[in-house]
Amino acid sequence: MVNQSESVADMIKNFNSLEVFTGITVVVGMRYLVLAFIAWTLCYWLFYSRWFHRKIVKRPPRRKDIRRELLYSALSILIFGAVGMVTITLARMGYTRICWSVAERGWGWFALSILLAVLLHDTYFYWSHRWMHHPKLFHWIHKVHHQSNNPTPWASYSFSFWEAMAQAAIFPLTAFLIPIHPLAFGIFMGWQIFNNVLGHTGFEFYPRWMMKGWLRYLLNTPTNHIMHHEKPNGNYGIYFNIWDRIMGTNHPDYDQRLTELIQAKRNPTIPNMPQQERTTAKVTASKL
Ligand SMILES: [Zn+2]
Ligand SMILES: [Zn+2]
Repeated sequence: MVNQSESVADMIKNFNSLEVFTGITVVVGMRYLVLAFIAWTLCYWLFYSRWFHRKIVKRPPRRKDIRRELLYSALSILIFGAVGMVTITLARMGYTRICWSVAERGWGWFALSILLAVLLHDTYFYWSHRWMHHPKLFHWIHKVHHQSNNPTPWASYSFSFWEAMAQAAIFPLTAFLIPIHPLAFGIFMGWQIFNNVLGHTGFEFYPRWMMKGWLRYLLNTPTNHIMHHEKPNGNYGIYFNIWDRIMGTNHPDYDQRLTELIQAKRNPTIPNMPQQERTTAKVTASKL
């Protein structure tokens, strides 16, 4: 592990700028594609009818929304690659607090730095997200993400140019504030995309036993974020529900909706998704 962490740091230090850009873009892009593909396959191909009682918005997503989500996510990933390259360049020039060797602060700090990065991102996301909902900024920055009112895992990076820049700002912000090893930063980003895909898949995954206790007040849920896509004036958080609870910005019906979803029973009469699409099309055609 020690040798691996040192060789990752050495590799990043010795790459030229184009190699850093390509490396970050490929890693971020592959993580997004693999996780979103797994979520899509499980939730919309294999278990759509089985898990339908946990589907937050009770209708299948539209193809044109998925195409738009994929296109904007691809553009965002390029922007993440560019901002990552600038951050690494600044780090090599000695302007950031990035630690190139784990031995400098030890493995305890390595683990703590990941937790601090998660807390920093949670706070940054909540406040920048509320700022993006200001009426004067929403149209220019955040509207693209809200075009998905029944999002799929492919919406995880569906941002406008300016929003992708604002989201990517967490790279330099973390590097300037937290003495963090590049590998620890990579683990933090892994946690970020896992949560991001989980929050956009459209199903409530948390088990009932977990959401009955205190974790309900601490953790953010897919229900919380999907409700934000339905009704944008509330539920601004990402990993935790703490800022929304402190600031009183949870939707008034969030707790009730979460309770209904985690208590819902499976309905065996729900068809699988391609079949449901055909049924919906037939119903629509018969109404015309
Ligand atoms: Zn979203
Ligand atoms: Zn929003």
